[in-house]
Amino acid sequence: MKKSTYEKPIISKITTGVPGKFGLSTKQKIIAEIDSIPVAKFVEEFGSPVFVFSEKKIRETYNDAKRAFETRYPKVQFAWSYKTNYLDAVCSIFHDEGAWAEVVSGFEFEKALSLGVNGANILYNGPEKSKQDLMLAIDHNASIHIDHFDELYLLIETTRKMNKKARVAIRINLDAGIYPMWDRFGFNYENGEAWNAINRIMLAENLELIGLHTHIGTYIMTASAYGIAASKLSNLMIATHRKFDYWLKYIDLGGGFASKNTLKGAYMPGSETCPSFDDYAEAISNAIISSEIPHENLPVLFLETGRALIDDAGYLITSVLANKRSTTGRKTLVIDAGVNLLFTSFWYNLGVFPSREVTDFMEDTTIYGPLCMNIDVVREAINFPQIKTGDQLVIERVGAYNVTQWMQFITYRPNVVLIDLEGKTHIIRKKENLETIKKNEFNPKK
Ligand SMILES: *Cc1c(COP(=O)(O)O)cnc(C)c1O
Repeated sequence: MKKSTYEKPIISKITTGVPGKFGLSTKQKIIAEIDSIPVAKFVEEFGSPVFVFSEKKIRETYNDAKRAFETRYPKVQFAWSYKTNYLDAVCSIFHDEGAWAEVVSGFEFEKALSLGVNGANILYNGPEKSKQDLMLAIDHNASIHIDHFDELYLLIETTRKMNKKARVAIRINLDAGIYPMWDRFGFNYENGEAWNAINRIMLAENLELIGLHTHIGTYIMTASAYGIAASKLSNLMIATHRKFDYWLKYIDLGGGFASKNTLKGAYMPGSETCPSFDDYAEAISNAIISSEIPHENLPVLFLETGRALIDDAGYLITSVLANKRSTTGRKTLVIDAGVNLLFTSFWYNLGVFPSREVTDFMEDTTIYGPLCMNIDVVREAINFPQIKTGDQLVIERVGAYNVTQWMQFITYRPNVVLIDLEGKTHIIRKKENLETIKKNEFNPKK
């Protein structure tokens, strides 16, 4: 018989109550209610899992961003980034606050129109615009942000055929110190491509160049990068005036402000390391105001902020299906919401919290979703208290991208609920069922 190898036993420390580098460990945070409504009540009424959005939080965050910019710059206009969250109810709140629409496809363009947004208040971005999409945008007098030369030529041809004018801007990619640089969208600043595009547009009789746009990336944690971007766009505005004696009407700095989520691999939580709206506003307004653009010709400043405006307003309530131990003795939980509903769990260590009082004993835990797929891991490692099967957990800061990038996969997508300013709850997207999924299927054998 082969003698088995000796392995030394491991004693691991229980960290409860022991002071660490930053002092005594804080007590486990509990999320027992959202806008004063108990977590259990949502599950009772709308099932589990369920997405919950707070109208109050959406409006508060929007107004904080607006204040930060409007106190530093005279002409500011936000345009809601549809792809970040295009539920009708959510878009309507932003439009009610005064935001325009920022869309990146024909579908999003149609959705904005269906919500009553005036075509002239739509910024149309993205590399994918068909001839039909362009015709729709021209007819509605939208601002078309041209992405590449082929789109420019198609637009020239289309406006000629329609015998109509189009209002356009160009998307510009530039080196703002953020790497890898997003150079796949738009015209490059440093190699002269953007200047070339401006010149071609100024020559095209049916195109009216009204603005310059850039979107340097997403979850940008350095506010100064926006200062660099704003300076470069200001330079192009000045060059355009010098050559054509014409002032462009707007500069659009796109989106990309970091939300308070914590990126995987980050040492400190995002809530402590991300710049505030004030930091971004300071960097951008400084660059434009102190450029050579005369103050009477200052452009309107557009912002297409997405995740930083909505992430905090969205929660996902989920229930614990099982408590298990892995073969190595590791503690694991299985919950009823998986990565198909939480696209952002691939980038963030999402905050997961119990919804009722727990004891002080914490253990390193893995949280799995319900899918029959090995990749369905919501948190690989989280120091977590003991939770009973059947208890509810709350996952916070899931308002951005999850309810647009989610997949119908294995299970039905759940109800999405909005808490309005009076504390009333409304289903804003109904849970799927067999019928909603089979509706678009056709079976030739039956
Ligand atoms: C996605 C996107 C946004 C929003 O980006 P966030 O990082 O969510 O702020 C804004 N503008 C454009 C062109 C985009 O593609």
